[in-house]
Amino acid sequence: MDLTQTFAKRLLHWHGVDGRQGLPWQNNQDPYAVWVSEIMLQQTQVATVLERYPRFMKRFPTVKKLSGAHIDEVLAEWAGLGYYSRARNLHACAQQVMEQYSGVFPSDPLLLAGLKGIGRSTAGAIAAFAFQVRAPILDANVKRILARLFCIDGGLQDKAVNERLWSLANDLLPSKPQDMPVYTQALMDFGATWCTARKPVCLSSAQRCPFAKECQANLSNQVLQFPQKTIKAKPPEFDCDMLLLRHGDHVLLHKRPSKAIWGGLWSLPESAWVVKSMTTKISNLTLQDIFQRTLPDEQIGALLRLCQSPQLGESIKHIFTHRRLWIQIWHVQVKKAHTFASNDLKWVPLKKLGQYGLPQPIKLLLQGLSLARDDDSEN
Ligand code: SF4
Repeated sequence: MDLTQTFAKRLLHWHGVDGRQGLPWQNNQDPYAVWVSEIMLQQTQVATVLERYPRFMKRFPTVKKLSGAHIDEVLAEWAGLGYYSRARNLHACAQQVMEQYSGVFPSDPLLLAGLKGIGRSTAGAIAAFAFQVRAPILDANVKRILARLFCIDGGLQDKAVNERLWSLANDLLPSKPQDMPVYTQALMDFGATWCTARKPVCLSSAQRCPFAKECQANLSNQVLQFPQKTIKAKPPEFDCDMLLLRHGDHVLLHKRPSKAIWGGLWSLPESAWVVKSMTTKISNLTLQDIFQRTLPDEQIGALLRLCQSPQLGESIKHIFTHRRLWIQIWHVQVKKAHTFASNDLKWVPLKKLGQYGLPQPIKLLLQGLSLARDDDSEN
């Protein structure tokens, strides 16, 4: 019998012996719990999710609770996990489920994939785990397994390659719907622990892969050549200035636009991001220059008279997936209270910083200056 017909059965057997057991989101058929865990596990390591998932579920135990929360609460709870669009989408999706489906998640993967922030693979995972639907998943781990098993030519960004992988993922599904939850978990576990990117078990003598005799990449000694790489351009680098404006025990925060990077989080007022080579030498900047770069024009005149000279502060490098950002911090003390007309600018007491969702580098900066306490000590 060929691999396609026996794969599911052998993978299920593998999971019984070597799969991961006892993760808090496993063996849970509540679609809400499954959905939250799937979103959190995207781009976040299991060790971090083990710590943060129970906390998130305690704070937002149902889709109704999450939909009724203020977005700032959700972002604050998400702080440190990165990729904040996931938190915004969780919130929007919870509202969508309440409005369109009366708070009950649909079981059809096509309907699930129509919800905010749920892609085709996540829809498959929710349908499989919560409703035992025979729906394939195709996350990065599964793509790697399939690309190796069948020596799929072409980069993973290629549309035709992806369609081929989806088709294979569908062909390999177990025939019995009741096997879907364990099968889906097994596939995830196998990619995360055995058929890993750099050290698949077949390259060590310690353990034997159950598919070693059919895996085409293994048979042709090309395991690390699959999946084939898409050549990436060097990520662009940007500079920006950020203003750490303090008045007594308050610091000025700025709410970021929801569609921007770190969308909806509270951060320090900042200048536009400019391509690194185009940046003016920082030594030339006056207080007025800094304000003009970081604050709305109408706020500057009155504020200038209330401030002491700027102090050049920390330089921070932050690496995103597709870009790098160099942040220059400027410390400025305000002698007298100044009221801002904009709702997006807010003086926040230092002891309340933990209640605000802050971008990770800004949170670390303020913690380093002992201005912000960690979320755990705040509660
Ligand atoms: S033989 Fe190696 S590359 Fe092939 S499926 Fe097994 S672990 Fe992955």
